[in-house]
Amino acid sequence: MQSKIAKIVKDNRESLIALRRDLHRHAEPAWVEFRTASILARKLDDLGFELKLGREVVNEEARMGLPSTETLEKEYARAKEQGADPEYLPYFEGGFTGLTATLDTGKPGPVIGLRFDIDSNDLTEPAGEGHIPTQQGFASINEGAMHACGHDAHAAIGIGVATVLSSLKEQLTGKIKFIFQPAEEGVRGAKSMVAAGVTDDLDLLLALHIGFGVNELGVFACGGEQFLATTKYDVTFKGVPAHAGSTPDEGKNALLAAALAVTGLYGIARHKDGSSRINVGVLKAGSGRNIIPDLAEMKIEIRGETTEINDYMVQKALSILEGAARMQEVEYETEEVGGAPAAVSSPDLAAALEKIANDHPGVRRFMTASPFSGSEDVTYMMQAMDKRSKPSAYLVAGTPVKSGHHKRDFDFDEEVIPLAADVISAAVFQLANNYK
Ligand SMILES: [Zn+2]
Repeated sequence: MQSKIAKIVKDNRESLIALRRDLHRHAEPAWVEFRTASILARKLDDLGFELKLGREVVNEEARMGLPSTETLEKEYARAKEQGADPEYLPYFEGGFTGLTATLDTGKPGPVIGLRFDIDSNDLTEPAGEGHIPTQQGFASINEGAMHACGHDAHAAIGIGVATVLSSLKEQLTGKIKFIFQPAEEGVRGAKSMVAAGVTDDLDLLLALHIGFGVNELGVFACGGEQFLATTKYDVTFKGVPAHAGSTPDEGKNALLAAALAVTGLYGIARHKDGSSRINVGVLKAGSGRNIIPDLAEMKIEIRGETTEINDYMVQKALSILEGAARMQEVEYETEEVGGAPAAVSSPDLAAALEKIANDHPGVRRFMTASPFSGSEDVTYMMQAMDKRSKPSAYLVAGTPVKSGHHKRDFDFDEEVIPLAADVISAAVFQLANNYK
């Protein structure tokens, strides 16, 4: 089986890299992955998968941090212009840019979920020397959108695995469900797919990321992830404007309320049970030198080592925001624009992956303690699996990366695409055919 998989991957190596480069060139950030989703749908349909698109797999109310209607419309038109597949594009209109694709072998066996995220970052790709995408002509043509985390590779790896599994379907059992998730950046998309029931029928779930501290090709890691639970808020303070010279007593100062909130937020007493973070990343306030500021807008995020520690920080933060608003007698609003719980790979599934990886000729080393740290909204899916007592695992496929994730000169070794497609395909065969 291993050699059959390797041959199919080898035959498709160039087209997978070409797909990655095409997606990279047409990078699309959270909720506007219109072109990306339509192209993936076309490929998966051609491979004989059963598709569920857009609203069928993305719950409208559970979407977080959605762009404005105006942005959604503009980006939809842009995607159309940039060669989105016309048959599938309409399913994703309005920011429903997720899809699932299921391969039913017709034979009894487990339902295995494979999750790949597909969105880009809100960055503009650099035009300078020494950046391979620019040098080789596949740098993003979309201003303010760049794949700087490798989700373009994830999408290509997903199509690679889909190509292998559909070719070798006769030798496979059960069902394989590919989940292509929008809006991972800002941890905004997974929740809506869980709410739409995407994970309800899965017996096990596997997710993937390239790089992230595993900087060597052929090295894979799973287990002991340090996913931080997180919550993101947009906060608005609304006061009353007044002339700062003649009638300052008539004003209600939104800027001052925000400033009090900032110092309060950073001063939250930390929980004894583990680490936490808080950041006020954006604060914009006021309109003119001689006007009592009537509006202040903040973007904040909170993280915790566990969901409980994150929740503790959230409760403290919300009471500080309320208190700061009261001190200046202004109104305030909070909008939750992103969030994810903490989670960890199931030990038994991580151990099974370790064995599979160590038997694979392309794997040089397997790390049982993943160096991943940060937040990842796949934890919503992992938590949903956990609630049903079903295992899930987060696999990191190593690659050298130039600069770090989310940086403008981020790049990686494209050989991770065929290699990860090969290893994941092998893993699916082992997991499906040995399922008890
Ligand atoms: Zn990422």
